[in-house]
Amino acid sequence: MAKVYNFSAGPAVLPHAVLAEAQSEMLDWHGSGMCVMEMSHRGKEFMEIIHDAEHDLRELMQIPKNYKVLFLQGGASLQFAMLPLNLLGDKKSIDVVNTGHWSKLAIKEAKRYANVNVVASSEDRNFTYVPAEETWQRDPDAAYLHYTSNETIGGLQFPFIPSSANGVPLVCDMSSDFLSREVDVSQFGLIYAGAQKNIGPSGLTVVIVREDLLGKALPSTPTMLNYQVHADADSMYNTPATYPIYIAGLVFKWLKELGGIKGMAARNDEKAGLLYHAIESSNGFYYSTVDAPFRSKMNVVFRLKDESLEDTFLSEAKKNGLVQLKGHRAVGGMRASIYNAMPIEGVKALVSFMMDFARQHSS
Ligand SMILES: *Cc1c(COP(=O)(O)O)cnc(C)c1O
Repeated sequence: MAKVYNFSAGPAVLPHAVLAEAQSEMLDWHGSGMCVMEMSHRGKEFMEIIHDAEHDLRELMQIPKNYKVLFLQGGASLQFAMLPLNLLGDKKSIDVVNTGHWSKLAIKEAKRYANVNVVASSEDRNFTYVPAEETWQRDPDAAYLHYTSNETIGGLQFPFIPSSANGVPLVCDMSSDFLSREVDVSQFGLIYAGAQKNIGPSGLTVVIVREDLLGKALPSTPTMLNYQVHADADSMYNTPATYPIYIAGLVFKWLKELGGIKGMAARNDEKAGLLYHAIESSNGFYYSTVDAPFRSKMNVVFRLKDESLEDTFLSEAKKNGLVQLKGHRAVGGMRASIYNAMPIEGVKALVSFMMDFARQHSS
């Protein structure tokens, strides 16, 4: 079997132990004689699977009782519409922070339903920093404030949680750093994340929403896009993404065994530290485009000073079993996504390759 380290931004690497467990249970889940994919979503076997997944996620994130956990579909992208449809209520506008590609898409979609007030933007410097919170022009009467805690494409991460000033609920797209570091859920009105970065397979979106924000959907909201409908039905209004929920549940168990989010955050700090140190100590051969305090610990974006070497870098990396390192077409360069499931050995292998490559190609 070919062994590679997969640095894809998403769908992304999954824990080897989880895949092996899924394989061992593929034909017969816990003596049921069925594959999870074949089960009725309302049968007692699948009920146990989804119940355990929610239970373990609640434990990992210490989700307070007055929050619902929803297992939805449509990706994080569908949330860009569901948020204003469900949370605008009798307000007129929402506040957003614009820090890159995903913020911009969230803004574009929200504009179909609400007045969108961009409280701060780092577009002036090509999304290389997070504007200081003191400078944000917030509306005390906004329905909510939306931000993207980790910009997957730009490699930019918020080092802080914004305040929920004036009681305006905080809404966060955590797709690419969910479960990677400790967050206090009680500071948020709503957190959402597409699964294929740090949770499991694509096809599943996790939404954590404070109960008092439910029940305010605009009358034209399609049934399937109404949080209240899914909350009332325990994510079983229609057939949920059963297999992705099962894999997500295995990932949650794996995280618990490894010491929960605190343990994972320490590993993530170490992995990102190794990689950024290699970039910084390359005498400019590699460089990061993002201001130091805001460099993502999940998506390490970097460039080569000599851009003509980029194709060689990628093909040599691939020969060394280091794959999917090409940056997003919107920003170019390289991107190493080092989500929870990327073992430290993978990062060490990449660092050692980068140092060799720089030695060989330095003039
Ligand atoms: C990947 C990603 C999305 C889009 O997710 P889909 O599941 O493809 O809709 C949105 N926001 C962020 C931060 C992402 O990383």
